[in-house]
Amino acid sequence: MIKLHPAIDNGFPPAKPGFSGGTLKCHCATNPVTVEVGAQTAHNHACGCTKCWKPEGAIFSQIAVVDRNKVKVTSGEEKLYVVDPSATIQRHACKECGVHMFGRIENTGHPFYGLDFVHTELSDQDGWSPPEFAAFVSSVIESGVSPDKMPEIRARLKELGLQPYDALSPALMDAIATHIAKQSGVLAA
Ligand SMILES: [Zn+2]
Ligand SMILES: [Zn+2]
Repeated sequence: MIKLHPAIDNGFPPAKPGFSGGTLKCHCATNPVTVEVGAQTAHNHACGCTKCWKPEGAIFSQIAVVDRNKVKVTSGEEKLYVVDPSATIQRHACKECGVHMFGRIENTGHPFYGLDFVHTELSDQDGWSPPEFAAFVSSVIESGVSPDKMPEIRARLKELGLQPYDALSPALMDAIATHIAKQSGVLAA
């Protein structure tokens, strides 16, 4: 069976009702960076893009969003750096182990402004929102996956209940388009 991501390959439990967050920890054995996430996440998904952090050997990343006001670095802040300052999503990573702790959008006009991107697998707590779909699936080829593996990958995602999309999910693509239409004035704000 093709391996996609360690937190996804064996199935995943549903979100715990009333779950209100936890602590993300980087992979450093000593003085890890810790980030407190004070709320349940939304839109968790498998992502095939080349920018999201993936654990060793994984084809996909697993990534969710949460209100940026609920994300707080609680230790090791001095080890964080922004992977690509020119990117829309500023991914704050640990310079020692390379793990991305959170991704933040600083452009207030961006459709997803206000949401941080986090990898909840970095937490010891159970109860986070499970992945709901797979985004940017075709992009895994850009990170070296052979194109002839794609039918198997898409079939496995479907088997796990993760509908594969080559962009974001329809709900998120609609949210982006709605935001743009309101900004341009073709839809009432
Ligand atoms: Zn680290
Ligand atoms: Zn991604």
